[in-house]
Amino acid sequence: MWRAVLLIITLFSTLLLMAMLTLWVRSHQIADYWFFADQRLSAPNQIGMTSIRSMSGELGVFRHHHLEVLNPGAPRFRHSTEELEGPMTSSVLVPSFWNKLGFALATDQPDSQTTATHSYLILPYWFPTGLTAVLPLIQINQFRRRRARYRRLREGLCQACGYDLRETPERCPECGMVPLAR
Ligand SMILES: [Zn+2]
Repeated sequence: MWRAVLLIITLFSTLLLMAMLTLWVRSHQIADYWFFADQRLSAPNQIGMTSIRSMSGELGVFRHHHLEVLNPGAPRFRHSTEELEGPMTSSVLVPSFWNKLGFALATDQPDSQTTATHSYLILPYWFPTGLTAVLPLIQINQFRRRRARYRRLREGLCQACGYDLRETPERCPECGMVPLAR
């Protein structure tokens, strides 16, 4: 049961990894923007706008609140692209340690006139790509180790260190491992 769940999570992670790699490569030539608008339930006269921006090796999540009523006919979701002329300078302005690595997190103070607030989170693509690569890499490593163990078992070698056990099948003279009964 646990193995099946892990396999499904790993499969999902692999799909995400491929999506991240594709977007990462694409982000250097084309900027992608995805917008989601929603009326805030806590403040019915405010529009919440979440946008995701993929650009120049960075993945950004922006959140805006504006004092405005959402037009019932307006599309809630929008995607737009923009061809980049050349390498863009990073949107990161304050050069802290995390900013140098490509991370940024900020929240503006509410504007007294428009009561608009903005907050954003920027991640360098290597970060989500690395995270989604962990489970697939573990799975590949386990698969390779299992295959090596089967091969050693088949060839009469020690499963731990690969020493030839045809002369001493009870115990490995090299590492001391006692082979499992076949
Ligand atoms: Zn051994």
